[in-house]
This record gives sequence, structure tokens and C-alpha cells, in this order.
Amino acid sequence: MNYIIIDPNECKGCRVCIEACPNRCIRLGNAINEIGYQYAEFIKGAKCIACGLCYYSCPEFGAVTVYKDEEEYHG
Ligand code: SF4
Ligand code: SF4
Repeated sequence: MNYIIIDPNECKGCRVCIEACPNRCIRLGNAINEIGYQYAEFIKGAKCIACGLCYYSCPEFGAVTVYKDEEEYHG
């Protein structure tokens, strides 16, 4: 399976990755991170194709990690 993990404290909730994802795999959660932003999260079970568009579009280096062909979800 493919999925991404977004580091809550590296995300500034800009929504760029949400708009970039072709399969609507990402949403803004309700929780607030350490620096006061609502952060984005992967929707568990969403059909991620590991295209990397979220990773490449995110302006915050290190916020998004893409996992491809994993046996299990470790989000
Ligand atoms: S890797 Fe592609 S399909 Fe998966 S969450 Fe990111 S943009 Fe969406
Ligand atoms: S593009 Fe990056 S900073 Fe913006 S919401 Fe997505 S993970 Fe957070």
C-alpha cells in the first residue's frame, strides 16, 4: 500500500498538498500543532498512488514523507 505521513509540527496548514493530491487523500485536521497551525493529515484508507505531488508541492521541507508499496500502514 501507498500512503504519506505529514509531520504535524512541520506543517503550516497551507493546504497546497490538499489541492495537489489527485485522489483527495489529504485533509486538514482539527488539531492544532505546536506552532498554532491546523495541520494536514492523510486520510486513512485513501487511494494514494505515491505520485509525490504532495511532497513536491509542500513548501515546508521535511513535512511530507511518501511511502510506496508498504506491507502495512504505519501512520
Ligand atoms: S503521493 Fe500523490 S496520491 Fe499520495 S497523498 Fe501525495 S499527492 Fe496524493
Ligand atoms: S503543503 Fe505542507 S505545509 Fe502545506 S498543508 Fe500540506 S503538509 Fe502542510
